[in-house]
Amino acid sequence: MYCQNCGHEVNDNADVCLNCGKILKQTSNDTTPIKKSKDSGSIGWGFLGFFFPLIGLILYLVWKDTAPNNASIAGKGALIGFISGIVLSIIMYIIMILVIYPLISY
Ligand SMILES: [Zn+2]
Repeated sequence: MYCQNCGHEVNDNADVCLNCGKILKQTSNDTTPIKKSKDSGSIGWGFLGFFFPLIGLILYLVWKDTAPNNASIAGKGALIGFISGIVLSIIMYIIMILVIYPLISY
């Protein structure tokens, strides 16, 4: 093969170009597609996180380094699910007050 940097002919197994010193290692390029296919950032993880915020949070912490796309989706889903849960609780609380307060005051 030829060096991508200077065009000098180098050994196929060489890690660095002997002419210019550029790193030619292909190992990092070979692992990237495998990692990408696993780390699809599928919206399904977002829904999982939304309905089960605790699982979403765990997935986020587990995938943070290995699968950042999945971690991001699961984390966002968990956050939205968590906030929605709080908002829903507050709405329920307000409704309960509005319903129960007139009943006990009269
Ligand atoms: Zn070179």
